[in-house]
Amino acid sequence: VSKVTSTAPSVVVVGGGFAGVGCAKALAKDDVRVTLLDQHNYHQFQPLLYQVATAELAASDVARSLRGIFARSPSVAVKQLRVTSVDPATRTVTCAGGETFTGDYLVLAAGSQPRFYGTPGAVEHTFHLYSLLDARRLRSRLFAIFEEADVHPARLEQGVLNIVIVGGGPTGVETAGAVADLITDIMPRRFHDLSVEQARIYLVDNGPVVLNGFSDKAHVYAKRELERFGITVLLNTGVEEVRPDRVVLSDGTEILTRTVVWAGGVQAAALAQAAGLPQGAGGRLGVTPELTIEGYPRIYAVGDIANTRDADGKELPQLGSVALQAGRWAARNILADIDGHAPTPFHYKDKGIMAMIGDGAAVAEIGPHHHELHGRLGFAAWLGVHAWLMSGVRQRVDAFIAWAWDFVGSSRSSSIIDDPDAGQIDWGDENEEDALLAEPPAEGQQPA
Ligand SMILES: Cc1cc2nc3c(=O)[nH]c(=O)nc-3n(C[C@H](O)[C@H](O)[C@H](O)COP(=O)(O)OP(=O)(O)OC[C@H]3O[C@@H](n4cnc5c(N)ncnc54)[C@H](O)[C@@H]3O)c2cc1C
Repeated sequence: VSKVTSTAPSVVVVGGGFAGVGCAKALAKDDVRVTLLDQHNYHQFQPLLYQVATAELAASDVARSLRGIFARSPSVAVKQLRVTSVDPATRTVTCAGGETFTGDYLVLAAGSQPRFYGTPGAVEHTFHLYSLLDARRLRSRLFAIFEEADVHPARLEQGVLNIVIVGGGPTGVETAGAVADLITDIMPRRFHDLSVEQARIYLVDNGPVVLNGFSDKAHVYAKRELERFGITVLLNTGVEEVRPDRVVLSDGTEILTRTVVWAGGVQAAALAQAAGLPQGAGGRLGVTPELTIEGYPRIYAVGDIANTRDADGKELPQLGSVALQAGRWAARNILADIDGHAPTPFHYKDKGIMAMIGDGAAVAEIGPHHHELHGRLGFAAWLGVHAWLMSGVRQRVDAFIAWAWDFVGSSRSSSIIDDPDAGQIDWGDENEEDALLAEPPAEGQQPA
């Protein structure tokens, strides 16, 4: 357990994701006072949120209490607060309740949020996967449509079992594969009056391939595997509009559905704009090679909120491994600065890129040369990198590894509808029935 002196330099870290936790953990070993602010009291492991959405994992498997992570680090004060503005001149952040924190150093690590590109109806009528609450909402909706189809088979005509995933990047591909796995697994075992064939999963992308950014071989492999799992892959097809009961595609076709998952892009968390600092692509904050904001040598931006470049100037993707390494590098530069040394430019150790497609199917392009692995070997590589990521933000990863090797026969123990709003679907026609059944409102009272 480290001791910290009351006059030690102070660092305020905003965001307890990979970047923020990686930074705070690296600082916790030194004589530095750290305040870690997050709107939630937990760290969430985003790469596994779709497993929560498909009841493969429980919420408690992918979230860890931030106070638990820093229980043995008295120099790190965790505060559950949402930061609403930043004053770069004084390195002060202000929170929703008016609380303020000023640091000798400031680390902005607030992550990202979905980007809808102005698609009408997308904000209101789609599900996404950026937080535990998002995953719970989607899980509730998935099980709600299964229950609805079971009780009212006529709803099949209204597309109750049609699920549309927008975006063929790793998140969309992984989500589509996990939903297909869920349906194949759960329909025969638990919904005896439904069949797998009644469900339709569509993966829509306006580009010509899935897993853009991966190799040509991976594009072909991933599409073939998705189709083998029964997923309809619609390429060169945009989503023009999302309505409460359907999506309208760029070729004019409409898919009736009550479950649209938006995996169509990311942009910086709202804090980037609130900070009043220059924003670049995706609304992200531009940073120097040392990971600081130009003109503010004591303000760092790390992880998804920043446009980070590698030592050779190449723009790095929004990945957990980039965030974790950048968070640690920022800590290293802060400690160097405190000791009177010059901060050094960020060097990213490329772990590669990977996507799990479903049972026995995965693609991994490993290491800086992106050595390509498919199938079970790809899955083993996926598992290795996720275990490494997890060990960067928490102590024990054995439960995760045990789950992963076992996951084909998983119990789906959290197959429950626990978000009442997401579980509730307005079918329109029910309102008429409700109106007939409802008591007439008393005089002077507004109908509900
Ligand atoms: C579904 C999904 C799957 C993914 N799969 C992979 C994968 O397989 N491999 C991989 O490497 N990457 C993956 N990623 C990307 C990876 O999760 C991100 O790159 C990574 O989480 C970024 O880390 P971060 O610390 O910058 O942000 P985050 O992990 O998003 O953390 C940001 C934190 O800031 C907090 N915060 C935000 N705004 C405020 C505020 N105003 N005040 C206080 N707190 C705030 C949030 O609550 C959150 O805890 C995936 C992402 C998603 C969404």
